[in-house]
Formats: sequence, C-alpha cells, structure tokens
Amino acid sequence: MDREKFLNACSEQVNWRVIVSIPPAVGYRAAPDEAIRIMGEIKRHVDGFSGLVVDYDRICKFCGAAWEVADGMKAIPDGRPLCCEKAGKMFDESALGTLER
Ligand SMILES: [Zn+2]
Repeated sequence: MDREKFLNACSEQVNWRVIVSIPPAVGYRAAPDEAIRIMGEIKRHVDGFSGLVVDYDRICKFCGAAWEVADGMKAIPDGRPLCCEKAGKMFDESALGTLER
C-alpha cells in the first residue's frame, strides 16, 4: 500500500476551503487591510456565498516558528511560548508569566 492509498484508507478530506493568498508584492506580513480588501472583492463577484472569512497564521517574531504555547503542561505555565527562549523569557517577564504561578 503506498502513502496515498494509506491516507485514503485511514483518513478523509473534510472542511474544504478556498484560500486566497495575499500577492507577494504586498508582502508576506501584509496588513490586514489588504486581506479585508480582497475579501470585499470576492464578495462582490461571488453571489450567495456566506462562508467567507479572513484568516491568518501566527508566527513568533523572534524565531519565525509557528506560534505554539503551553497548554496543560505540568512544568510550563499555560500560555508560555514553546518555540524559543527569547519568546519564553518575554512571557516570564510579562504580567502573564506571573499570573500563572
Ligand atoms: Zn520563537
């Protein structure tokens, strides 16, 4: 069984969505204004479609990794970033870091 057959035997594709990327000329970290403008353009041209949302990924400003925080871990307070020391240190030094202890 190859990887594709295994995937289809054990999983299914659900929650399909259309993703519109902000043009590279606008920039990877484009302002939300551009995303909202594009959403307005799509709504104008596609009738009877209500499932349109603006979404984004969150990354760490220090290391660029996907933003992931501790949740229900014993040794790490909830909300503390897991990606790098710099983000973790900033959390520890913030009010957020002291609230959990
Ligand atoms: Zn980081």
